[in-house]
Amino acid sequence: MALAAERQPVLDVQAVRDLFPILEQRVHGKPLVYLDNAATTQRPRAVLDAMAEFYESYNANVHRGIYAFSEKASARYEEVRSKVQALIGAAAPEEIVFTRGTTEALNLVAQSWGRANLREGDEILVTEMEHHSNFVPWQMVAKETGARLRCARVTDEGRLDREDFRANLTGRTRIVALAHVSNVLGTINPVADLAREAHTRGAIVVVDGAQAAGHLPVDVRALGCDFYAFSAHKMYGPTGVGALYGRLDLLDAMEPTMGGGGMIGEVTLERTTWADVPHRFEAGTMPIAEVIALGAAVDFLLDLDRETIRAHEERLTSYALARLKSCRGVKVFGPPTTAGRAPVLSLASHDVHPHDLATVMDRDGVAVRAGHHCAQPLMRRLGVGATARASFALYNTTDEVDAFIRSLEHAEAFFRGS
Ligand code: PMP
Repeated sequence: MALAAERQPVLDVQAVRDLFPILEQRVHGKPLVYLDNAATTQRPRAVLDAMAEFYESYNANVHRGIYAFSEKASARYEEVRSKVQALIGAAAPEEIVFTRGTTEALNLVAQSWGRANLREGDEILVTEMEHHSNFVPWQMVAKETGARLRCARVTDEGRLDREDFRANLTGRTRIVALAHVSNVLGTINPVADLAREAHTRGAIVVVDGAQAAGHLPVDVRALGCDFYAFSAHKMYGPTGVGALYGRLDLLDAMEPTMGGGGMIGEVTLERTTWADVPHRFEAGTMPIAEVIALGAAVDFLLDLDRETIRAHEERLTSYALARLKSCRGVKVFGPPTTAGRAPVLSLASHDVHPHDLATVMDRDGVAVRAGHHCAQPLMRRLGVGATARASFALYNTTDEVDAFIRSLEHAEAFFRGS
């Protein structure tokens, strides 16, 4: 019994791959090795089917009609709120607001909670490893309100500098905004500990979960955060949709940032009252098909079990880190082991520009990303203009890691002229 309990869960990767039609594609005559999952993942058949089924068999606007299709669409749409609630451990479905994605969710908090609560001299604390989505909205609201934006440093190993975080957390900090997982370094931030520290100073905690929701088990109540944002397209769902989790008491006290249909209580010539949470924040016709397909992505993740997914992706990351050690002239950024690390690997070559690496790798069928990854402050901290980034998902295999390494060595040799 003890052995069974200790055994690492194993994912049947081939069976999983069969669920993703796009993985059968060839690129430049080579099998596709898709390693740009941090930018967007691929979608399983069930997600594609959920969208097609909506359009083919019950397409209607939600919350407006009293005919059968509209009622079915509305029910399905609202069911997804409960699915997302279950996925991230929220206390109630009303704590889930559908948005266009992480970016919109973070802007919503900045523009609604931020504008209402920040005063001149207040402070917002972010970290050096933030994606621009969790940086620029705070910079904008700081400028509008006279608040000060502070930034906690990253260590040479690519982890958050806890001492610097503490030094920047003051009695004036109203908001701490940080990534659960860095989209460049793969670093998993110890959100629960940091949230505890932030709360003792009276700040609220906003978490950018874009790189976590599809890879780690997420429990917003265990994390102790006040807001949590993520995008469906990075967790096997469609583009154009995501969610903001917010503690109900906080959401309840917030003003909407967009006015229009569906978000009102009553409209008169003089004034408008707001609908209850979460509809207050969902103005206009929402991406209904996409929300319903997000529900299929949540089912997919929960069926496979996120601990099992995590264990598989950790094995891939560990294998890739070990193989990269023997690549001459290649520097890997971020934590050196899989401890506190998600499946994102950024690297720089001594001899080859990241864009050239990615271009040559593409000819081998290997899709990696090169650039600043919307994290320019972090690039400056790392002392590079860009990195090449490989990021894994549940359908990747160790054979694909081998193909990636072979292609990397090929690119290095090509540019070294050897
Ligand atoms: N935060 C992080 C950490 C990300 O990786 C991304 C996507 N690259 C975003 C925010 C923004 O997500 P979206 O473009 O889906 O809004």
